[in-house]
Amino acid sequence: MSEPTIFKRIINGEIPANVVYEDEQCLAFHDVAPQAPVHILVIPKKEIASIDDLSAEDEQLVGHLFLVIQQIAREQGLAENGYRVICNCGEGGGQTVFHLHYHLMGGRNLKWPPG
Ligand code: AMP
Repeated sequence: MSEPTIFKRIINGEIPANVVYEDEQCLAFHDVAPQAPVHILVIPKKEIASIDDLSAEDEQLVGHLFLVIQQIAREQGLAENGYRVICNCGEGGGQTVFHLHYHLMGGRNLKWPPG
């Protein structure tokens, strides 16, 4: 059995997190090393390693995650100025935690392209 990821341990309540939203399908919490004034991670409770591991049965879940992101962005006051949603996939894509997650970032004007 492989070690549970840090995000699975947060879902299980073994590691604390600054949670901003939770429902039966997903959890959202502040990133421990924020790269913007608002930097929140939105994760499914289902263990999916990355975008590359999604399957057709996850279609509803992924749509739900985006609606949750929209709701949190509005609650955090990001919607008016705009915000960025990032999902790193695989080591070459910059992924370090292999449990699917979306970065919601805002609160300043973000540059493009990222590194
Ligand atoms: P990624 O590089 O896309 O896999 O993003 C992983 C993110 O998880 C990084 O932005 C980390 O700062 C963040 N992170 C790692 N451990 C924790 C933790 N215990 N609580 C909150 N965020 C974390």
